Amino acid sequence: MLEMRDEDKTREQLLEELAGLRRRVLDLESLENEHQRLLQALRESEERFRFMAETTGDVLYRLKYHCMKFDYISPSVVKLIGYSPEEINALGFSSLIMSLEGLEGNTLSTEELTRNRKEGKTGEYRADYLIKTKSGDLKWVGDHSFPWRDETGKSIGSVGILSDITERKRVEAALREMNQELHRLVTLDGLTQVANRRRFDEFLGQEWRRMRREQGPLSLILCDIDHFKLYNDSYGHQVGDDCLRVVAQAIRKSVNRPTDLVARYGGEEFAVILSNTDSKGAVRVAENIRREVQTLQIAHSSSSERRYVTISCGVSSMIPTETRPAETLIALSDEGLYEAKKRGRNRVVLKTLEEPA
Ligand code: GH3
Ligand code: MG
Ligand code: MG
Repeated sequence: MLEMRDEDKTREQLLEELAGLRRRVLDLESLENEHQRLLQALRESEERFRFMAETTGDVLYRLKYHCMKFDYISPSVVKLIGYSPEEINALGFSSLIMSLEGLEGNTLSTEELTRNRKEGKTGEYRADYLIKTKSGDLKWVGDHSFPWRDETGKSIGSVGILSDITERKRVEAALREMNQELHRLVTLDGLTQVANRRRFDEFLGQEWRRMRREQGPLSLILCDIDHFKLYNDSYGHQVGDDCLRVVAQAIRKSVNRPTDLVARYGGEEFAVILSNTDSKGAVRVAENIRREVQTLQIAHSSSSERRYVTISCGVSSMIPTETRPAETLIALSDEGLYEAKKRGRNRVVLKTLEEPA
């Protein structure tokens, strides 16, 4: 149909067209307003995100697996490890990791870790990295991340937070050290600074089981100071305590292997546990101890037999069996000790299950 020329249109028709044009202008205006409103909302949202990402001490990131590069990492990463986001992508983040501790404290290699993540085996993930910062200092950085998947569910990257956990790690290490020290104190005899009875019991059980598995000989020496009651009576309890300290050190000096344990068994009795040592070896160690104490020449004027402090030792040795308890060794050494006292003290007596030849 031919369009009417304006001069042919009636006044009503023209007014109607004008109203239509006005409506379109108004529509366009409201569309533009909506557009501006959305832009503003987007700007605000981005600003809000940026503010959060850049003002908290933590670092947000998104990592793309196909190139192992960050397509976003908060600029505050510079404060954390000294490198800018561009430098990190150029170097590769994993090249900055000196050591890695996984969730259960097991140490994974960065290669294993990267492979697991790329293959989508890793869901929510936490790890602690020891990072060499740009200045060369070492810093602990904690990583907590989640998988980033495409529409098909394929793992294409991860989104996570990096935070400075150096202080936490320092406190943890201090706590561990304190625990070790506490354990040492709990297992140490306060007076003589050798292992206490609690540690002796624990260690004897442990070594009994180990030697039973390995079918190796386990030996026990029980040492008892001769006429120590008389010593206390003559010199006083304080001097008696000093004597116990000196004797303990002499015993320690005579025992060489790091796996040997010297313990205060009770009052003036000491015990030595020797793993992988047969009766011959144990008697030799006991003799060394006895001689070492004698050569200290600690005066003991009231001793009826000798003028110096001496000790008697009971020795036992056996390859642990399923049918006997560890206390078998204690009973045998005790018997040996009793016999040493009876036979005049300052001597070593060996007791084994079969009478020695
Ligand atoms: P024996 O030669 O038969 O072993 O005689 P002994 O006097 O050494 O044995 P007894 O068991 O009769 O006495 C042990 C004494 O050891 C009793 C106690 O005076 C002393 N004693 C035990 N523990 C301590 C201690 O912690 N400090 C001091 N100073 N003396 C102790
Ligand atoms: Mg005694
Ligand atoms: Mg005694």
